[in-house]
Parts: sequence; C-alpha cells; structure tokens
Amino acid sequence: MAAESYTLPDLPYDPGALKPHINGHLMELHHDKHHAAYVKGANTTLEKLADLRGSADFSTLAQLERNLAFNVSGHVLHSIFWTNLSPDGGGEPTGPLADELERSFGGFDGFRRHMTEAASTVQGSGWALAAWEPVAGRLLVQQVHDHQGNHGQGMVPLLAIDAWEHAYYVQYLNEKVEFFNAIWNVVNWPDVQRRFEQARAGELVGATS
Ligand code: FE
Repeated sequence: MAAESYTLPDLPYDPGALKPHINGHLMELHHDKHHAAYVKGANTTLEKLADLRGSADFSTLAQLERNLAFNVSGHVLHSIFWTNLSPDGGGEPTGPLADELERSFGGFDGFRRHMTEAASTVQGSGWALAAWEPVAGRLLVQQVHDHQGNHGQGMVPLLAIDAWEHAYYVQYLNEKVEFFNAIWNVVNWPDVQRRFEQARAGELVGATS
C-alpha cells in the first residue's frame, strides 16, 4: 500500500477568531492559499520522485530533493503554527515550560525578546522557531531560512512564528515588528507546553494536535 499523501489540516478556529491581531482575510489567504501550495508541492514532488525511481535518468533528483525539503518543511511548520495560536491565547506559560524558559533564556521576557528579534531580523523569508534540542536537553531559538535552512538536525519544533511577508503584509504592510509583537497576544501556551513535554520525554511529536 502506498504511503498517504499530505493533506491540508483545517484551521482549529474560525479564520477571523484571532482578530484584531490577525484578521480573517490574512488568515484565509495564508491557510487556504499559501499553506495549501506547500501541501500540493509536497505531493507533486513525491509523485515525481516515484516516477524517477522507475526511470534511468536521475538528473532531476537533486532539485526534487530540494523541493521536497522546502515543501514538506513548509507544511510541517504551518501545521504547527496554526495550533500554536488560539483566540484564548496570550499571557505567559506556567509550570515546567516556564521553568525551562528560566533555565535556557533567563526567563520568559528574555525568551520573548529573542524570538521577536529572530523573527524581525530574518533576511528574506523565514521563521523564528523555539525548538527542543534533545542531545543537550535544552530549548534553543532558531532563525530558520525559508522553511528548512539553518535548522539544526534533530531539533523538535515547539513554537513557530512565520516571518514570511505573506504572514503579515496584507494587514500590517511594512510594519512587521508590530505583527511580531502582537502575535504574543494569541500564543496557545497549552499547545506549546504539550509539545515541550512530549519532546522532552522523547516521544514523537506530530505536526498537529
Ligand atoms: Fe506562511
């Protein structure tokens, strides 16, 4: 039996539910068009790779592998991003995640500043990503290029902030720092906490809830 194709997950809330921080038009475009394009791109690339395995010419393999990393990573990060947000979000984490932010970043304020600056200073397209590094056992902030570059091997994403222009331009125009400041009002800390506890326990963490 062939492996399943990638599918676009539904948003876990109405597109306009995160207003005023993210308006419904922006959210619909971002989910229905941009995320959908990565899902389509991932599936198309998988089909082309399957065709390639039956051919004698592997001259397109390297480009297809780049396309695969780009589109699958785009799908994974957006799937995490939607669940990282909630109309009931905001505030600060508590419990073990708060303790970990203290240990790795000197506290929540230091973590938030680091993430906000990582998002704000992306050159071109990218993400700010808080990820669990399982070898040392600590949280790190990464500044991801596109969807997959500059990402350490084995790192488990916990909180992803989309810093592509498509994530804010429709609503915030060139004031992207306003978007990266506003997004903290809708961060779904129970989701981040769940991902943190699963990652720390060494369990496999799915892209969606
Ligand atoms: Fe995006």
